[in-house]
Amino acid sequence: MFRKWLVAVLPLIVACSEHGSEVVADTEPPRPNIVFIMADDHAYQAISAYGSELIETPNIDRIAAEGLRFDQAFVGNSICSPSRATLLTGKFSHANGLRNNIHVFDGSQPTLQRLMREAGYETAIIGKWHLKSEPTDFDYWDVLPDQGEYYNPDFVSRDGTRRVEGYVTDITTDLAIDWLEQRDDVGKPFLLFYHHKAPHREWWPPLDSADEFLGEALPEPGSLFDDYAGRGRAAREAEMRISDHMGLTNDNKITPENAAALGHVPFMAWYDDAYRRQFDEYMNETQRAAFDALYGPINADFIDRDLRGEDLTRWKYQRYMQDYLATIRSVDNNIGRLLSWLETSGQLDNTVIVYTSDQGFYLGEHGWFDKRFMYEESFRTPLLIRWPGVVEAGAERNAIVQNIDFAPTILDIAGADVPAAMHGKSLAPLFSADDADFRDAAYYHYYEYPGIHAVKRHYGVRTQRYKLMHFYHDVDEWELYDLQTDPSEMRNVYADPAYTGVRDQMTALLADVQARYGDSLQLAREFLEADLAELPSQ
Ligand code: CA
Repeated sequence: MFRKWLVAVLPLIVACSEHGSEVVADTEPPRPNIVFIMADDHAYQAISAYGSELIETPNIDRIAAEGLRFDQAFVGNSICSPSRATLLTGKFSHANGLRNNIHVFDGSQPTLQRLMREAGYETAIIGKWHLKSEPTDFDYWDVLPDQGEYYNPDFVSRDGTRRVEGYVTDITTDLAIDWLEQRDDVGKPFLLFYHHKAPHREWWPPLDSADEFLGEALPEPGSLFDDYAGRGRAAREAEMRISDHMGLTNDNKITPENAAALGHVPFMAWYDDAYRRQFDEYMNETQRAAFDALYGPINADFIDRDLRGEDLTRWKYQRYMQDYLATIRSVDNNIGRLLSWLETSGQLDNTVIVYTSDQGFYLGEHGWFDKRFMYEESFRTPLLIRWPGVVEAGAERNAIVQNIDFAPTILDIAGADVPAAMHGKSLAPLFSADDADFRDAAYYHYYEYPGIHAVKRHYGVRTQRYKLMHFYHDVDEWELYDLQTDPSEMRNVYADPAYTGVRDQMTALLADVQARYGDSLQLAREFLEADLAELPSQ
């Protein structure tokens, strides 16, 4: 596949080369660098290139305007660690061994970064890692332990653990730029995973720009007060509703003392501890003062109004969005910094830029925050790719793609072979044209139950029009959605006689897709038995 790039890139490289065109013309031109930017929990609904009504993200939008926007990119398992394991292996969770946020990633298996090193690339990961085991096969790594912290976070590298003063999104970018500047082996192209913690819960904002959204009335989604009628137990019993399960303290930044004084009891006892830990242990005095200046008036107003019921839910939604969007403002600004550095150093156009998230997120749809479900908002993820001269600029793609495709695509860009054991395939054919037949269906399987947020185990398939899901373990429920007539997934038509034919087709397709990838309900039950022995019970 690499030969294909040469035709498109060659004139550019000849024009830019400082070493004379003879060398370039007689040998293969340098392969592009790759900066893979992964945010954590960044919903496509909060990117203006995807039509967000909540925020303008000019730097992320630049990647879309000068590259491709994928409108049907899906993850195979919508939580942090499994998504990252899929990025590094090109495989679904059942095959790479990381099905939940609890298990430890086995770095001895074949990984993308190892194959890229073998292909002659320098490899680095900076920022969020969240795979518990030590990073393997990276020439350089400097990562947050576990989820990491927003203020003055610890970073772990080969030299051990150190605390770095500042805000995590700025620091991650500083470290990425430092690494780019100090690269000694400049004869090689590089693959840099530049992975942000933001905008992960609990959305502690950048103190220098948090006020942008404070006091702003952000639009509410139509399903903020969803009653889950017509759907199964899984949606009703999930513990991720803004109304009942979001914390006033850790999530909404009301002090534990103020929340308690109004008689509010946290859904989980650790919520108040999480607030105190961030405020007392990680912030420094200057940060605490800045935080108090911003959130003191919000606390005073909250006490004054003493909201309850739907009014309180609406207020919590606003608070949630204000802080969530502030963390994204910092991500977008910092991506701007990185793009500027690449541009100034003359490397931007020979560097493939990918922007994605480890999954999508609920911004109040169905009354929720968090992810985990195969419903659209968390199943889909943003995906933008910029590579001038190769990737069509300013275009959209409707082909069904998945995060299993990331590793094969990166290998393909590097001109390396894609192992047959990988489940995904290179997105390269979509760089120049859309293809509705690229993939017939996206596959999904979620495992972390019993567990935090109580989202039941389920798997399913999604085609261009329909989605079939099966919830199992302590339920045996099926859901079928017609995304053309019901894009918000408010009406389960599994038992609707008008959809009998569709249901049968989708059931057969699910069996085909599971066979294709080597997954099955029997295997799921084996994993369940093993997991129940070790998952924290609830
Ligand atoms: Ca995540």
